[in-house]
Amino acid sequence: MPQTIVEVDIRKSPQDQKFPIQNRWHPDIPVAAMVKPGDSFRIECLDWTGGQISNDDNAADIRDCNLLPCHHLSGPVGIQGAEPGDLLVVDILDLGPFREQEWGYTGIFSPQNGGGFLTDVFPEPCKAIWDCQGIFATSRHIPNVRFAAISHPGILGCAPSHELLAKWNKRERALIDTNPHRVPPLALPPEPRQAMLGSLKGAEYEKAAKDAARTIPPREHGGNCDIKNLSRGSRVYLPVYVNGAKLTTGDLHFSQGDGEITFCGAIEMHGWIDFHVDLIKGGMEKYKLTGPVFQPGPVEPRYSEFLVFEGLSVDDDGNQHYLDVTVAYRRACLNAINYLTQFGFTGEQAYILLSCAPVEGRVSGVVDIPNACVSIYIPTEIFDFDIRPNGGGPKKMVKGRDVARVS
Ligand code: ZN
Repeated sequence: MPQTIVEVDIRKSPQDQKFPIQNRWHPDIPVAAMVKPGDSFRIECLDWTGGQISNDDNAADIRDCNLLPCHHLSGPVGIQGAEPGDLLVVDILDLGPFREQEWGYTGIFSPQNGGGFLTDVFPEPCKAIWDCQGIFATSRHIPNVRFAAISHPGILGCAPSHELLAKWNKRERALIDTNPHRVPPLALPPEPRQAMLGSLKGAEYEKAAKDAARTIPPREHGGNCDIKNLSRGSRVYLPVYVNGAKLTTGDLHFSQGDGEITFCGAIEMHGWIDFHVDLIKGGMEKYKLTGPVFQPGPVEPRYSEFLVFEGLSVDDDGNQHYLDVTVAYRRACLNAINYLTQFGFTGEQAYILLSCAPVEGRVSGVVDIPNACVSIYIPTEIFDFDIRPNGGGPKKMVKGRDVARVS
């Protein structure tokens, strides 16, 4: 087991951690620990909300979740000898939940507090608690389902340079300005309130908090990519923008489907992650890379049978859109959800399941004007009954509880 170089204590608040939490991106956040190329090490992480969600049957914590301090991340880890233009080679050796904390949650957030891909259809806050049994996930809130997880860090990336940070802030501000009062917002500008910048203090903290970037979107450095296949055994090549690279991680996911559609859409957990790092000097220029590339790991669920739902770029009202993959993905999700509810799942259960089970989402065609075609592959083996169409029609097979709602 590699040495733990960044610890968390889940009994303590995010403010009281021995290794101060980071919840924004900024080049001036001081390193929490140093390693050398060739080192293996363990980093512990709070869940993305910093412990705001409980293992219970009331979604009031989802409704009241404070998103200003999210995501709660661990780092940055400095890598000796790393310089701008290098590639940081990060092997994800393993990851998992803490002992005695083998559970996670998936949430649906209201449009006023985070939203989600189908927030107009499912605006009510609710959650499902998942039990992690080894590599398997089951939930008292989504009965008749059990699946193997593909665990991964939602967030992994090196610190941006000052120039890159300024570029992010400029382009995101321009987008926000096109519709500044939209709910949910188009993007999230820097937010000094509740900014946690590691051990940065005093005037330097005040200055950095004003323009430190929020951690919600993925960007050129990686960040909140939420790619389920960037999992155990993966090797990712991350661009380095500052001396020491300053690697930060967190938002560990026990499992997630492509798209992570409910927003808090993975099985979110506290946990640990083991890395091995190396450097390719000058790798960005040598390979003409402007963002991360990665090799998926050799360990993932082996489901071989799927029911696949298609979606086209024709919206809910029948309007034709031109090769719009987002519209098509929405239609594919709604088609799948409507189908699953015929077996007795509530819409929220089906929405959460699509979001956190090992569901494959694919862009199948983007050239056949005017329709983009996407497809969502649901593994049929995750259900304890047959979900395939047959002459007898669907039967109400789901027996048990619904998702946890606000009570
Ligand atoms: Zn997450």
